[in-house]
Formats: sequence, C-alpha cells, structure tokens
Amino acid sequence: MRIVVCIKQVPDTNEVRIDPVKGTLIREGVPSIMNPDDKNALEEALRLKDEYGATVIVVTMGPPQAEKVLREALAMGADEAYLLTDRLFAGADTWATSLTLARAIQKIGYDLIFAGRQAIDGDTAQVGSEIAEHLNIPQVTYVEKVEIEKDSLRIKRALEDGYEIIRIQKPCLLTCIKELNNPRYMNIYDIFTCYQKEIKILTTQDLELDKEEIGLSGSPTKVRKTFTKEPKGKGEIINLPPVEAAQYAANKLKEKHFI
Ligand SMILES: Cc1cc2nc3c(=O)[nH]c(=O)nc-3n(C[C@H](O)[C@H](O)[C@H](O)COP(=O)(O)OP(=O)(O)OC[C@H]3O[C@@H](n4cnc5c(N)ncnc54)[C@H](O)[C@@H]3O)c2cc1C
Repeated sequence: MRIVVCIKQVPDTNEVRIDPVKGTLIREGVPSIMNPDDKNALEEALRLKDEYGATVIVVTMGPPQAEKVLREALAMGADEAYLLTDRLFAGADTWATSLTLARAIQKIGYDLIFAGRQAIDGDTAQVGSEIAEHLNIPQVTYVEKVEIEKDSLRIKRALEDGYEIIRIQKPCLLTCIKELNNPRYMNIYDIFTCYQKEIKILTTQDLELDKEEIGLSGSPTKVRKTFTKEPKGKGEIINLPPVEAAQYAANKLKEKHFI
C-alpha cells in the first residue's frame, strides 16, 4: 500500500503577535512548523505502516526551506519525501495548490492519500477536498478513526453533534483532525540519518503543468488586501443592581448581534 501524506509548512500562529502601534502582524522570529492536522495525518499513515506494512510518502508544495518539514517527517518514519518547488508556484490559491499537488500525487502513485483538515495559516480547509476532486476519487473529511477491513476502510467521521461511520474503497482521500491520534516524537536514529536521505524535487516541468494552470496565473481568486483586526475597545464596568445589570448586559449583546 502506498500512502501519500500532504504536509504543509506553516508559521506557528500561536507565536504570531500584533504590533500594538502599527496594527500589523509581527512575523519576525516566528518559527515554522509542520501544520498540526498534517502531523495527525502522518501519524495515521505511520500507524497503518506499523500494523499492515505500507510505504509512506510525504509531499509538500512550498519554498526550498519547506524541506525542513519533510526532514521532520522522515525522522518520524516516512519513507520518501517530495518537495514541489518552483517560482511559478508562488501566489497559488487553493485551486492552483490542489491542482499542483494532485498532479504530483498522480505521478508518485498512491492507494491512499491523507491530508490535514485545515492549515492554520490559510485556514480554508479546501485543499484536501480539491485534491480528491482533481483526481476523481472519493473522500471523507473530518476523520477521527481509520480501520482497515479487507479491501475497504471503515471511517469514523466527526460531525458537530455526533459522528458518521462510512465505508470507503481505496483509492481515496481522507482529511484528518487532531482527535485521530497522538503524533509520535521523532526517532533518535532517524533524526541523525534524515539529512542523508534524498528529498526529491519536482518543478513545473516535471509535473507537465502549463504556466496558466499554476501559481498566481492559475488562481481564480486573488487576495486584494490583508489587514489585522482592530484591537477591541476598553471594557465597560456596569455599576447597577444585579437584575438591572444583567438586563443591561443582555441588551448590549443583542445590539451587537451576539445573542
Ligand atoms: C483567495 C486566496 C488567495 C491566496 N493567495 C495567496 C498568495 O498570493 N500567496 C500565497 O502564498 N498564498 C496565498 N493563499 C494561500 C494559499 O492558497 C494557501 O496557503 C494554500 O492554497 C493552502 O490553503 P490553506 O492554507 O487554506 O490550506 P487548507 O485547505 O486549510 O489545507 C488543508 C490540507 O491540505 C494540505 N495542504 C495545503 N497546502 C499544502 C501545501 N502547500 N503542501 C502540501 N499540502 C498542503 C495539508 O494537508 C492541509 O492540512 C491564498 C489563499 C486564498 C484563499
């Protein structure tokens, strides 16, 4: 079984702060990490490898420094790593990103594809589903349990107030959530050896993609403006008897459409 895991390098958004004067994001010194849901996706692929035997292949699209998350994945136990990197990929929205990843995965070969539910920077939760659409394979999102049953998979899918049990045939794509598992730490031996392992580079030419299909030119959406939220105003202390204070607070919340 060939399991491809899509992993994205993201800024650790827990560390991003807002400059109180300029109102802009302070990105300097913010570490880049493996997107958390993708770590759960990788762990699940490695668990299936441990239990049933599989080749785990990690794929990322990003700048050359995104290699770091691939090394981390190799140190966790992945077998092969692909970095899709090319200046022409820059500025991709989710459509162009998923098309590029789908083309690479097609070339690499797969039985099962894992992605995270969502990346903590772009936050769209679209890329996994779009990859499945480009490849014309079935998908299950919000996966919190995976069991292998002969030729099919039995999936527990999280819903807002419950869950669904879905049986799905391979090849298929699953998007993973943190409830799925606890990612393992890197293995010491693999930490030492991961820098000797090959990271295969794929560019536009290798993927036989046209310039118009990728990066900014291949993106139906364009970000016109980005800005940080206004800081919240000062709080208000309500100096009224309890019942009146509750009524006053409720009215304020209604005014702002919170309730
Ligand atoms: C309208 C719009 C315009 C944008 N324009 C730009 C731009 O000009 N420049 C720019 O740098 N970014 C841009 N982005 C961000 C870029 O589209 C996203 O970072 C990228 O498409 C992934 O989407 P996401 O972060 O929302 O991932 P999600 O859809 O939330 O990710 C879901 C899962 O897909 C997989 N995945 C996502 N991205 C990758 C990847 N690169 N490699 C491997 N696996 C991946 C991971 O498994 C991840 O957990 C734009 C986004 C939008 C919505």
